Amino acid sequence: MPDIDEVTWAPRISKAQIRRLYESDALGMLDEELLADVGTRLFQRCRSIVEVHEARQGQVRCPRCERSGRETLIARSKDPGAREAQILCPACGWQVTWIEYARTFKRRQLNSGGAMSAFQEYIQRWPAARTPELKMVAVDRLIHAFHFSLYKLPDLPTRPAGVNLIKGKLSDVIQFLEELSYGPGSSAERNQVRLEWQQTLETFRKDFLEGLLYRQTEEVEADTEDWN
Ligand SMILES: [Zn+2]
Repeated sequence: MPDIDEVTWAPRISKAQIRRLYESDALGMLDEELLADVGTRLFQRCRSIVEVHEARQGQVRCPRCERSGRETLIARSKDPGAREAQILCPACGWQVTWIEYARTFKRRQLNSGGAMSAFQEYIQRWPAARTPELKMVAVDRLIHAFHFSLYKLPDLPTRPAGVNLIKGKLSDVIQFLEELSYGPGSSAERNQVRLEWQQTLETFRKDFLEGLLYRQTEEVEADTEDWN
């Protein structure tokens, strides 16, 4: 097997799974097994997103070492001329070029962009959440997060982060999140998350769907930087 095939990324989550989870919660019969499954998959997805970010920043995580329970970060040169140089793991000998490596995450919605803090927050929150309610809050906050990616307007949301986490086109994911079931028993924090999502969508729906703001962001630049 070529070394590059050892690089794997956690996939996005299906809408059906998340829908079932929220429906069970809305009915007051939260499916805790499903919650554990969805929450863990989201955790792995966030880890993949952070891993891509670290690699872009110059630290590639060795997948072969990872599988044998060892953590090895390989420093790579970000010099444009080094794209074809070997990135070599000093611990196990795994090696790839940056060109090969970057191809594995290209156009797979794995760019952290302006939502890095949301992905990182979830990575902290999920393992620490001890009750079903805290777990639901963590999932809720994550899937309703936004990217804030413009250098000049850092408070302006540019895109829902749900599209990095849930399978489907941006328009499908937005519609899906709007139709998620909520029960009368949702906590104040969860209701607040939902209210903020709705208000942001009311203001920016058109911008999100047309992608005008998003196309000006560093995230898009990052996705093409290694290919131009
Ligand atoms: Zn290694």
